[in-house]
Formats: sequence, C-alpha cells, structure tokens
Amino acid sequence: MVLICPQCGKAALYLETGGVMGDIYRCKNCTYIGNFVIESDDPDLSNELEEGRRAELGR
Ligand SMILES: [Zn+2]
Repeated sequence: MVLICPQCGKAALYLETGGVMGDIYRCKNCTYIGNFVIESDDPDLSNELEEGRRAELGR
C-alpha cells in the first residue's frame, strides 16, 4: 500500500508524527502537511484521481 498526497497526487508522503491530532503526514514532493491522505495499492493512482475515482478512499 502507498499513501498518495491529496495535493499533488504523488506517492511521496511519509509519516511526520502521531499524537493527539492523529497521524500527520508530510509530502516530499510539495508542501502538503496533514492527516488526510489517500491510501492505495496502486502507485499510479494519481492518474485515476484526475478522473475523480475517489470511491477507494472509503474505509
Ligand atoms: Zn504532495
């Protein structure tokens, strides 16, 4: 599984910290920091994101 940045669509996230706010992720490709990430088994999900296929977010 990979974590996709919701801002730039790249699988460049890493876990910054976990705490009272929940897990915070930071993107190595852009300036995104936050707890909202897109989980995928497909590293190429960025293309699918542009097609609006966000149903796989559900959990
Ligand atoms: Zn990013």
